[in-house]
Amino acid sequence: MRKVNRLSTMEAINISDRIKGMAVSATLAMSQKSSELRAAGVDVINLSVGEPDFDTPEHIKEAAKKAIDDNYTHYPPVPGYMDLRKAIAGKLLRENGVEFKPEQIVVSAGAKHSLSNVIFALVNPGDEVVIPTPAWVSYVEMVKLAGGKNVLVPAGIEQDFKITPEQLEGAITPRTRIVLLCSPSNPSGSVYTREELQGLVKVLEKHPQVAILSDEIYEHINYAGEFASLASFPEVADRVVIVNGVSKAYAMTGWRIGFMAGPLAVAKAVSKLQGQTTSGISTIAQKAALAAYEGSQQCVADMLEAFRRRRDLVVGLARRIPGLRINEPQGAFYLFPEVSAYLGRRFGDRVISTDDDLAMFLLEEAHVATVSGSAFCLPGYIRLSYAASDDQLREAFARIEAALAQLA
Ligand code: PMP
Ligand code: GLU
Repeated sequence: MRKVNRLSTMEAINISDRIKGMAVSATLAMSQKSSELRAAGVDVINLSVGEPDFDTPEHIKEAAKKAIDDNYTHYPPVPGYMDLRKAIAGKLLRENGVEFKPEQIVVSAGAKHSLSNVIFALVNPGDEVVIPTPAWVSYVEMVKLAGGKNVLVPAGIEQDFKITPEQLEGAITPRTRIVLLCSPSNPSGSVYTREELQGLVKVLEKHPQVAILSDEIYEHINYAGEFASLASFPEVADRVVIVNGVSKAYAMTGWRIGFMAGPLAVAKAVSKLQGQTTSGISTIAQKAALAAYEGSQQCVADMLEAFRRRRDLVVGLARRIPGLRINEPQGAFYLFPEVSAYLGRRFGDRVISTDDDLAMFLLEEAHVATVSGSAFCLPGYIRLSYAASDDQLREAFARIEAALAQLA
């Protein structure tokens, strides 16, 4: 029999320009790199990927087991089971004070999938999408893939990583189709107050062609107090698309359930896209998500308390390291220190010129995995996830401090 070497045929196969031009997800890539090092016996502390280190609560896992026993094993409806969409509508009303019918909600394979579906449903080639930076790694790549143009609006540490109404006004043009906001923010942890959002809403009111995509995945990991959904502002409510899901609030990253809630036309478009690409989402995971939304919310409060404690811990640890500038994050589980004091320094023959170099240096020398600010379209920073144990966090910061002290 002829032996086929499938590895060697790769060169001959044409990969589309679309995919060739796309960046690899830096969060997932750094995490993968740290897993590989760990498999090779290196004691790496992984603060790169952002996911709760808790296990999924028992009552949610039980619901999934029961779903199998109850034979929820057939194709589900494309936009999601009606009971789950009703439960999501109930959550949106109860927790966010916003009214959506189940028909306006589509369940997808994680918030990432929902975001990508919405962007593909709304963006024509050449359309502009306004994105404040630092911004989560995948937004700009999704927009590029849809043929859209990213209009980045930088907001550094001096403005607590939040854009001003004037900046927003300056970024919107007649070609703007979407303004994409994320609060609490990945990677900065900043949370817009209701008053700050009101200021942005005043600008958005003047531009009725713009859809507002509100990534609310860190809603429950919020130490600031009230969480304000953009959909709760009546002036723009009819063009807000909320994206949220169970990954962060219920420690369910592996279950892959997220949703969009928005105007009926958007939900229909997303459902049509999903009908041709993925079909409905895993039946078992949907039943687990139903239990998350309908069951006791104590697990959410317990995890928030643990994250708050760790936030305080890492802020204290980071403030001890000379040259790192930090804000105190009000949400999510990331610290985003400004590191420019260390750029341009040397480690032996090696020059640490960029934040990418610094993240690599920390991985190789301190064995701590982080992600560069450049991956979030704001160079000069690094992101650390503090969804890790207190011991790991203490050890990681001790290693980072020792490694940075070696840079001359
Ligand atoms: N948005 C932001 C800002 C995130 O950090 C994440 C987590 N990777 C997602 C969306 C996607 O979450 P998931 O697909 O796990 O629901
Ligand atoms: N939200 C996480 C992060 O930013 C998960 C990884 C990903 O989906 O990018 O690290």
